[in-house]
Parts: sequence; C-alpha cells; structure tokens
Amino acid sequence: MSCLFCRIVKREVPANVVAENEHALAFRDINPAAPTHVLVIPKVHVTDVSEASDTSLLGQVFALARQVAKSEGLEQDGYRLVVNNGKNAGQSVFHLHMHVLGGRAMAWPPG
Ligand code: AMP
Repeated sequence: MSCLFCRIVKREVPANVVAENEHALAFRDINPAAPTHVLVIPKVHVTDVSEASDTSLLGQVFALARQVAKSEGLEQDGYRLVVNNGKNAGQSVFHLHMHVLGGRAMAWPPG
C-alpha cells in the first residue's frame, strides 16, 4: 500500500486525527495554510472527484468537514472548503481530500 493517506487511515503513518465517522477521517494538515487547516478524506481509496462514483461517500466527507468546522469554532466567521482535483488544480496527494481552512479572512479568487 503506497498511498500516503491510505496509510494514515490504517494508522501506519502518524497523523493528528481530529474526527472521524464511519466512512471519512479528518486530520490536521502537516503544512497548514491557515490557523485551522484540516484534511477530510474518504477511508477507502478514491483518487479524485472524477473517480468518486459513490455519491453517498462524498456526502460523508462533506458531513465530517462540517462537523470539523463546528468543533474548530469556525462556523461564526466562516471557512473555506477546497478540493484540488487533478494536476492543474495543484493536487499533490492522489487520494481525494477536502481542505477545511479557517481562522483568518481569505482572498478570492485564489491564485
Ligand atoms: P493537495 O495539494 O490538495 O493535494 O493537498 C495535499 C495536502 O496534504 C497538502 O496541504 C500537504 O501539506 C498535506 N500533507 C501531505 N502529507 C501529509 C501528512 N503526512 N499529514 C498531513 N498532511 C499532509
């Protein structure tokens, strides 16, 4: 198993896990781009959005992202959910993940 995030799911690689549900896992990004930066991933290996045929799995990822935003105290001021999908978007880990970013104001559009 060479996928880094699959190895985090299996607890073979350490991560700062903040929450999980039956189908998704949330852990802090190792290189945070905001005061709060958490990644939410499906527990099964899905490369990207195009490969995610199970829409209920996407719902589980969204639900856990929302739960993390609440537990991290981001609801009042808002937060950003980002999915970098594929090369042009800058996806660097090819296991679908949603970034939960908050704790400061963020510019739009992104660079
Ligand atoms: P992306 O560029 O959208 O593919 O995002 C991948 C993210 O994974 C980056 O923000 C990295 O900082 C983060 N990352 C890479 N390795 C780890 C790790 N071992 N634990 C936590 N986050 C990681």
